[in-house]
Amino acid sequence: HAKKSGRNTFRAYRKGMDELIEKRRALEADIERGLERDEFELYLQPRVSALDGSIIGYEALLRWNHPERGMVHPGDFIPVAEVSGKIIGLGEWVLREACRLAVELPPEVHLSVNVSPVQFRHPDFLGRIEAILKETSVAPQQLELEITESVLIDDERARLILGHLKSLGLKIALDDFGTGYSSLSYLSRYPFDVIKIDRSFVSALGEEETANAIVRTIIELGNGLGMRVVAEGVETVEQAGYLCAAGCDELQGYLLGRPLPVNRIAREISETVVTELTRIARLSAHR
Ligand code: C2E
Ligand code: MG
Ligand code: MG
Ligand code: MG
Repeated sequence: HAKKSGRNTFRAYRKGMDELIEKRRALEADIERGLERDEFELYLQPRVSALDGSIIGYEALLRWNHPERGMVHPGDFIPVAEVSGKIIGLGEWVLREACRLAVELPPEVHLSVNVSPVQFRHPDFLGRIEAILKETSVAPQQLELEITESVLIDDERARLILGHLKSLGLKIALDDFGTGYSSLSYLSRYPFDVIKIDRSFVSALGEEETANAIVRTIIELGNGLGMRVVAEGVETVEQAGYLCAAGCDELQGYLLGRPLPVNRIAREISETVVTELTRIARLSAHR
């Protein structure tokens, strides 16, 4: 009896696996088709100065207008794109699109682009970036690449690549800081221009005593090392007030503006930003 039920469990497991593999294959093919049919789109979310509320730049966030599934978020396809290698083509599309966009923006407005660890590890990562910079004639100073701590494990290569990217004039941000492998020594060993405090710490502000201490420490550390510190996922005026008072340089989050398609950016964001930041500034002034 036990043997039989074991066999059934195994069959169910196999069936589950087969379905999963099938689903993944379909998604891989779909990504390929999506690129051919121009279904991907960059949304922009503003990064706002904590000093005066001005827009410093935007983060480009990938969206997929899928013909059947509707709007698909990166969390639902980037992992599959990474495993299958499709992220290489997709990442190039993102970078090219961001460069073309940056050329249209005023030169002081920055654009930041997320780079997958899989892209970063690709042997021709630098070559492809250089080719796209050349092809689009973008000013590299306008572009910032957001990487995560997982790429820093391969110490020597990571340092060489980051150094090369810097020498091209690009800025480098360390995304999701505080999650993952976080080692303080990373901060002094690599030439980051920006660190982004992960949303999990920002959303815990005012709720968990430790979050306030961690956020304050990251800001002091970043500033002490000459880096700009950006807070991700700012949703409330209270969070913004705390971050401003603690010396955070830039705020990003739904409070300041949601990610929006490029053609809706100018109108909808400025109003939110202006009203909210006037309130925030008033709040910080009271402190
Ligand atoms: P991320 O780079 O840390 O981006 C921030 C994410 O937080 C975005 O989710 C953004 O929409 C969301 N967000 C911003 N403000 C708030 C807020 O106030 N509250 C909440 N709850 N969420 C907020 P999104 O667009 O779904 O992207 C998720 C992740 O997917 C990104 O995290 C990034 O790691 C990755 N990603 C996005 N676009 C690309 C891309 O073009 N290439 C690669 N390789 N990865 C990308
Ligand atoms: Mg990011
Ligand atoms: Mg992040
Ligand atoms: Mg992330």
